[in-house]
Amino acid sequence: MSRPDLHLALAQPAAVEPAPARGRIAVLSIVIPLYNESGSLGLLHQRLGAVLDTLGLSVERRELVFVDDGSRDTTFAEVAMLRAVDPCVRAIRFARNFGKEAAMAAGLRAATGDVVILMDGDLQHPPELIPEMVRRWQQGADMVTAVRRSRDTDPWLRRQLSQAFYGLFKRVSEVALAEGGGDFRLFDRKVVAAINSLPERTRFMKGITSWVGFRQVEVDFDPEERAAGASAWSMLRLLRYAVDGLSTFSTLPLRVWSLVGMAMAAISGLYGTWLVVRTAIWGIDVPGYASIMVAVLFLSGIQLISLGVLGEYVGRIFTEVKARPLFLVAERIGFDEPAERG
Ligand code: UDP
Ligand code: MG
Repeated sequence: MSRPDLHLALAQPAAVEPAPARGRIAVLSIVIPLYNESGSLGLLHQRLGAVLDTLGLSVERRELVFVDDGSRDTTFAEVAMLRAVDPCVRAIRFARNFGKEAAMAAGLRAATGDVVILMDGDLQHPPELIPEMVRRWQQGADMVTAVRRSRDTDPWLRRQLSQAFYGLFKRVSEVALAEGGGDFRLFDRKVVAAINSLPERTRFMKGITSWVGFRQVEVDFDPEERAAGASAWSMLRLLRYAVDGLSTFSTLPLRVWSLVGMAMAAISGLYGTWLVVRTAIWGIDVPGYASIMVAVLFLSGIQLISLGVLGEYVGRIFTEVKARPLFLVAERIGFDEPAERG
């Protein structure tokens, strides 16, 4: 490609490309991470079945990939029972709870469809939205993100914190997140291939999906209340997740300290000059205990914070270089290949 061509290609935003209209789906996969979801599984399966029927997808053209993330209730036994009555059910059971991100990664690797939908297993993501998402794919979108219209189902404090997180993320990171976009998404096969090719261990799906690009569109939905059970996300776990997200998609927290350091050096330089000049003109003053204490405490505070931030990143480098598998599979149902590692 000659230079002017390259320039043109770069100037053309992806969204302007005419989107190819797509025909019918060969195989539709639905990937669902499950952690202690025995209460909603039956209803979920029933509602999904009804929706896939309306899409005219026969049993050979659909696939439900359940990933049991080390549940401690009867979730996996129930999935196995579903498999007995429904041949399109496939399941992976993790050796322990590896977390939702690992479960989603495992499901996306196992899914074989040319269109893959990722959704929660607690029915907060209504299966009835799927036909609309598929329609968008047929119109040419490579990724369809279901964005919640309201967060009324979340507690007040969690809503405020999540708003603050999205605001901060927008300012410091290299990718933009769809605000209110959860993990209810439709992917074209090429997007799944791109996501599967990412080797990182600290995974933050909201950032990854935005980072890979492709033609993305959003559809709105109203989240429902959890069908059963309780959210597995405590405040502390959410906070850790937020730090993961920020640190994997931004190096600003790491770099900001050199700016802080330079500002502090400039200020202390000016202050030092003033002290010298003052001493030269008016002689030695009574030594100030307060100002020394304030400077020492303030600076050591800043040093500790920056050390802590360094620690966050070094910890993540450690996790990556250890290169442990993302998850360990204990059992697989409905797959031909033997059990694998993540
Ligand atoms: N989940 C999981 N592993 C976990 C926690 C949750 O696979 O360690 C699954 C859970 O079963 C559900 C989805 O992730 O299908 C969303 O979880 P939850 O409803 O607890 O999150 P929230 O809706 O509160 O964000
Ligand atoms: Mg939920």
